[in-house]
Amino acid sequence: MKLSIFKTRFIVYLISLSVISWFLFNFLLNRQSLIMHKYFIEKPTSYNLERAERLASSIYQSFKKEVPVPSLENIQNFIDKYNDIPFLNVNFIYQDDKGLMRSVVEDVKEIDILSAEYVYPVKYGDREMGTLLVYDINKEYKRGLAEYNHMITVTRIFFTILLFLLLSVLLFREYSSLIEHKKRIAEYQAVHDGLTGLYTQKYFKEHLEKEVARSQRYKRPLSLIMCDIDYFKGFNDLYGHLAGDKVLQTVARIIADNVRASDIVVRYGGEEFAVLLIETGFEDAKNIAMRLKKLTNQALEIADRIKEKVEQTQLDIEHKKVGVTISMGLSSYKGDAEYKAEHFIGEADHALYESKNSGRNKITLFDPETKKFIKYS
Ligand code: GH3
Ligand code: MG
Ligand code: MG
Repeated sequence: MKLSIFKTRFIVYLISLSVISWFLFNFLLNRQSLIMHKYFIEKPTSYNLERAERLASSIYQSFKKEVPVPSLENIQNFIDKYNDIPFLNVNFIYQDDKGLMRSVVEDVKEIDILSAEYVYPVKYGDREMGTLLVYDINKEYKRGLAEYNHMITVTRIFFTILLFLLLSVLLFREYSSLIEHKKRIAEYQAVHDGLTGLYTQKYFKEHLEKEVARSQRYKRPLSLIMCDIDYFKGFNDLYGHLAGDKVLQTVARIIADNVRASDIVVRYGGEEFAVLLIETGFEDAKNIAMRLKKLTNQALEIADRIKEKVEQTQLDIEHKKVGVTISMGLSSYKGDAEYKAEHFIGEADHALYESKNSGRNKITLFDPETKKFIKYS
């Protein structure tokens, strides 16, 4: 739950960050655009239309003087010299022998020719030689700015799509992990008891069958402890079900805390618990009988510890210190003979019944060799 709140917060931060960056991005673009406008469109203070016109006309006068006999070389030299003038650009277009339009400045397109600000036809006598073109550089800047604005629009669209894709991917991932999380919770809840957090009977039965089969295959013993809270109905009647639930949780925690990590602790029924002790670390025991003895001893030790801890635990109910006891039945399986999981439960249950019958708060052991019940405590 906490994780999903954290993730929701993360998404909110991410979206806010995206919105902030989007505005910042646009602000910077607009600022850039303003700078471009200031430098390229607003004419510099020294710029003056009349002056430009005068300058263009004086260029034309110079042309006539400096290029009296037009040769391409002369024209080229002239243009090179005058193209240094601020704000103005000079070009010359003419028709070649084949009647094709040519330009002295290379790479000039038709549109460039049409956009010339000042146009001076150049004649020598009656012969039309070509046209002197004088451009206002500001116009070119304007065109540059239009291109720049176009680029900004494209960038904006690109950025929007990218942002959108990024957020979609993130939201999708988030959504999938949420589904995954819910699935895992559902899986957990399917095999865990809601009140105590222990495994359910369904899980236990599935695992018991597997463990019995494994035990048979590898000739390894297995132990089962069944526990039942004594006089629990009376406890509920006396202190109420909520207090009863508290007892169930406490006993469950005591059991879980006092077994090994490899053991399976189960809430078998209302106030019944089962512990399946799987043989671990008994490799040194030479034969099955020895291993069984070792495991049974360990199971008894665990059962005894749990019984004592439960007995010693006092719950604070309605400002009174209240305690409960549990009865236990234990059965061990050698792992050699043909065996059924139900028999195992039956034997442990029977042993538990013996504990109840002999006064409760007891541990009874079923001996698989003699098929007898041994009162342990
Ligand atoms: P015994 O010593 O013979 O085991 O007696 P008992 O009263 O414990 O046994 P019995 O089977 O008669 O009663 C079991 C009681 O457990 C009855 C039921 O109200 C209680 N119980 C079962 N599940 C829950 C639960 O989830 N919460 C609470 N508070 N009580 C439960
Ligand atoms: Mg019971
Ligand atoms: Mg009971």
